[in-house]
Amino acid sequence: MAETRHTRVLIIGSGPAGYTAAVYASRAMLNPVLIQGMQPGGQLTITTEVENWPGDKTVMGPDLMQRMEDHAREMGAEVITDIVTRLDLSRRPFTAETDSGTTWTADAVILATGAQARWLGLPSEEKFKGFGVSACATCDGFFYRGREVVVIGGGNTAVEEALFLTNFASKVTVVHRRDSFRAEKIMQDRLFKNPKITVVWDSAVTEVKGTEAPLGVTAVTVQNVKTGETRDIPCDGFFVAIGHAPASELVKDQLELHNGGYVKVEPGSTRTSIAGVFAAGDLTDHIYRQAVTSAGMGCMAALDAEKFLAGH
Ligand SMILES: Cc1cc2nc3c(=O)[nH]c(=O)nc-3n(C[C@H](O)[C@H](O)[C@H](O)COP(=O)(O)OP(=O)(O)OC[C@H]3O[C@@H](n4cnc5c(N)ncnc54)[C@H](O)[C@@H]3O)c2cc1C
Repeated sequence: MAETRHTRVLIIGSGPAGYTAAVYASRAMLNPVLIQGMQPGGQLTITTEVENWPGDKTVMGPDLMQRMEDHAREMGAEVITDIVTRLDLSRRPFTAETDSGTTWTADAVILATGAQARWLGLPSEEKFKGFGVSACATCDGFFYRGREVVVIGGGNTAVEEALFLTNFASKVTVVHRRDSFRAEKIMQDRLFKNPKITVVWDSAVTEVKGTEAPLGVTAVTVQNVKTGETRDIPCDGFFVAIGHAPASELVKDQLELHNGGYVKVEPGSTRTSIAGVFAAGDLTDHIYRQAVTSAGMGCMAALDAEKFLAGH
């Protein structure tokens, strides 16, 4: 049945940013409500080992996110499985409509809806995600020490990821569908000078190949977009670096955005262009995009919200 409920702090999103904000807001006695969205636990639920969460040498992504949810609930946050379908930030209290029909009013809102990596959309890419296919070199590069990897993309992200991967991999092949990169010149120069990197121009990856048991990548098939010729490039890891899409649909006409859709916050804070609305995690961050930085921003958002509410 449709109902309207009020909360002092509404947290939208259940990744590391959302759950950390929930822990801090609960401990500040703000009785926050957190709406999980269509991916409870966020992006880390689609990965396997995480080796850079401080305090856990290795932890499975879904386990870590379950622990964060338990922690937030234990501290007193109300965690709700629902999706925010409409958000009105034009007046306070702010209003959020959800998929279940419940309308929430809130004195402060913390946006933590994250971002999604852009993928090629190949069935074989989907099959090997987390088992040799990755969209994050910072997260997974370490697993490819002394091994061969392929990166696809031609912008700054692809060139940065390829350079970063040379710290671990024995060979990095960059596949790009054009005959020149869009990345900054200085980054391109570094890439061309690196003896570990080979570039395959005018080509698209059409298939990821690998083993079944255990699941693992052994090669990618590339097709030259000009000649149609195909060949396999042997590799142990395949990194998709064709960009990220921040989940800012709910607020794109209401808040200031930057860098193609990320929510803009005041430097050193999580304050957005509307007082009482805070943003944290990958939704605001096109640079670091890590669980620990998202959690850090979630903490900041709760503290910023607490200060805002104390002043109102
Ligand atoms: C495959 C993979 C592996 C990774 N490995 C690592 C790693 O090893 N180490 C590391 O530090 N980082 C890793 N990352 C990056 C890390 O997952 C992200 O930086 C982090 O999850 C971002 O956290 P977040 O809280 O900002 O948002 P996200 O984790 O993106 O969560 C966003 C949340 O918002 C919710 N949401 C979205 N829209 C709505 C809506 N309309 N209503 C309600 N809720 C909504 C979603 O359901 C989701 O719960 C990896 C990412 C991927 C994809």
